[in-house]
Amino acid sequence: MSNMLKNRCLSKAISEASWSEFRNMLEVIVVSKAFASSQLCSACSHQHKEVKSLALRQWNCPSCGTHHDRDINAAINLKKEALRMLKLDALSEASAACTT
Ligand SMILES: [Zn+2]
Repeated sequence: MSNMLKNRCLSKAISEASWSEFRNMLEVIVVSKAFASSQLCSACSHQHKEVKSLALRQWNCPSCGTHHDRDINAAINLKKEALRMLKLDALSEASAACTT
């Protein structure tokens, strides 16, 4: 298979991923307890377990020193995770579509 064909299939799969699918994916991530969005540093991905306490609204990453607002940091992490999942999904759909 040529790279050109691969790219065409991939971009088609990405453009076909609708916003409702994207929203559904976000909801899946939000309810997933395995994804500790508020504990992860959105700058360096360091997991800071002390952020588990809901009283802690702002924190500094012990690894890279970035200052975080708890909710904004969690939102950035959720967006990053959603994009990662969307990309994986589009890739698997694209390769499935291209083999038939
Ligand atoms: Zn960090």
